[in-house]
Amino acid sequence: METNSSLTKETITQEAFRLGMEFVGYAPVDRWQQYGDLPTEFYPANIWPLCKTVIVLGVPVWLPILEAAPAEIGREQYSITNKLLDEAAYRLAAFLNRQGHAAINICRDGYGDFELLFEQPVAVFSHVWAGYYAGLGTIGWNHTLLTKQFGPRVRLVSVLTSLELGGDPMLVEDLCIKCQLCKKICPSQAFAGDKEARCGEMDKHACARNGKRLRQAFRNPCGSCIKVCPVGEDRKLFQSSNIQVYFNEKQAFAQEPDNPIYRSWRHMRKYGGHPLDEDQ
Ligand code: SF4
Ligand code: SF4
Repeated sequence: METNSSLTKETITQEAFRLGMEFVGYAPVDRWQQYGDLPTEFYPANIWPLCKTVIVLGVPVWLPILEAAPAEIGREQYSITNKLLDEAAYRLAAFLNRQGHAAINICRDGYGDFELLFEQPVAVFSHVWAGYYAGLGTIGWNHTLLTKQFGPRVRLVSVLTSLELGGDPMLVEDLCIKCQLCKKICPSQAFAGDKEARCGEMDKHACARNGKRLRQAFRNPCGSCIKVCPVGEDRKLFQSSNIQVYFNEKQAFAQEPDNPIYRSWRHMRKYGGHPLDEDQ
């Protein structure tokens, strides 16, 4: 196979956009070592020794659908984004391999089932930390990647390549404002710990138990800690800056049954999945 030695980041980024991606970032593998945030077995060069650069791809999820969660329509949005990401990452790896630069895609979720999360609550690779090292955002208190455009309402996947490409600059300013609204809204009380810490302590089993319950109703994922986050320009786009509406919904709905916001959420929740206790 002939090697195309003139392949640039710009060409790869254009290919990723052509494949339907909305964000692309580049992280040299040295950054995992330099920052030392993760156990060494999760460093990309320890997962695949040829790896020199991680290319992180992303797409947003739309706030109004997330706001209605838990709803079947959100479950479908989740699977659409997974499909888009996994397909684009596979095709981008194939594109690089055709040009003579070894590449593999690391699939979106990287775990077989919720049940397995009770045994080992981590996936094969963290796309969130890869996104941080690739300059796409910063790490939120709720363990997600916070981006300027969509806050934590993004989904990510990664391509590992042997090609050495310059890294994108990492964000200096922390986007997380430590408001702890993610902790306050969590139906599983999965978050605890110091407000000023980089990330809260997270009970991943409690989160997985809730996810499993919602999946049985065809209404997973939960996503509450993502919808509530005030960070992100998408709040302006979707005209949704009043975070309090998430907290007093039942009371507000009782007072204003024709409020278009609550009506919209209730409609999206009512159809396509099984009823849940919290619908009452
Ligand atoms: S909700 Fe607040 S504390 Fe939680 S991740 Fe977003 S900005 Fe940070
Ligand atoms: S996804 Fe839901 S249950 Fe899990 S941590 Fe976030 S708010 Fe809590």
